[in-house]
Amino acid sequence: MSTRIRPQPGIMEIALYKGGSSGIAGRDDVVKLSSNENPFGAGDVARTAYMRAGHDLHRYPATDHAGLRLALGTQFGLDAGRIICGAGSDEIISFLCQAYAGPGDEVLYSQHGFLMYRISALAAGATPVVAPERERTTDVDAILACATRRTRLVFIANPNNPTGTMIPLSEITRLAKGLPAQALLVLDGAYAEYAEGYDGGAALVDTRENVVMTRTFSKLYGLGGLRIGWGYGPQHVIDVLNRVRGPFNLSNTQLAVAEAALSDAAHVSRSLTENARWRSWLSGRLNELGVATDDSHANFVLARFRDTAQAEGCNSALLADGLIVRQVGSYGLPECLRITVGDEAACRRVAHVIAAFMERQR
Ligand SMILES: *Cc1c(COP(=O)(O)O)cnc(C)c1O
Repeated sequence: MSTRIRPQPGIMEIALYKGGSSGIAGRDDVVKLSSNENPFGAGDVARTAYMRAGHDLHRYPATDHAGLRLALGTQFGLDAGRIICGAGSDEIISFLCQAYAGPGDEVLYSQHGFLMYRISALAAGATPVVAPERERTTDVDAILACATRRTRLVFIANPNNPTGTMIPLSEITRLAKGLPAQALLVLDGAYAEYAEGYDGGAALVDTRENVVMTRTFSKLYGLGGLRIGWGYGPQHVIDVLNRVRGPFNLSNTQLAVAEAALSDAAHVSRSLTENARWRSWLSGRLNELGVATDDSHANFVLARFRDTAQAEGCNSALLADGLIVRQVGSYGLPECLRITVGDEAACRRVAHVIAAFMERQR
């Protein structure tokens, strides 16, 4: 490496993000349960829009995303003028760090928080700060205790990944009110739709100047491969983020397919119903087998084993059967495996393999 040509401070501290693996050499019956993808894929309406979008590949996309923002505003009862769209919610997270945090500033998130918070904070030259959790659950008091006059951003995923736990809106509100004046609270709602009766914090955004919500089409809508996310915030924040956003950050295809996916109520409702049913079945089965789980409010279950060795053994047993789940040592949970709730057949296969594995452990 050249000693004179050097990147900005912080960049070399970034550990490359590893996505959930998706294949096993020599096998064609693999089920991928490592990235919290919708087991039914994208809906028919979205697929049709995707095919149609092929006719417009030579056209530049809209720079203002007006159509998608209006559709989102209508769907969720939000002010479309305070929505920003990005290439996945990852891009919104990155805009936030770029715009609000730099050298000397702190970006605060919780112990088992999403890896992108740290990556985006370091990429902006800021200092990541980690607040402890209590029983794998966001601890508002611990976060408030870690906030300083340097804290510029606080990221909370609710429900959280990889734990699946969530805290009530009253706790989020207490956090928003208790933070120092220069800190912006970001509510990452990647799994908000899976939590019944939860608006992702949208109503809180409407009443406060220091709260932003991020959402995605990658999980419930089954569009992880297309990269579409969005944020909702106070006008002053959205105006700032739009200055760092590239004008053509989303393609015609992304915009059209996202809008189509929003209109497909049947696909959304089927996905939610099946997820709730098989999530409850899977965690019930795991508990019967002696594998603990927390109450998940998302589309995955965090299986807790006796120790790291047992989790690794179970992971190998699942792999040997063509089932790919997520090891979460990088989230500080090496004794756990995060298992996406698949369709009925996938859940039954997972339970079957884990049952045989636990039997051999006795
Ligand atoms: C999957 C996920 C996201 C979404 O990422 P995209 O960039 O929208 O695909 C954001 N936050 C958390 C916690 C996630 O698990």
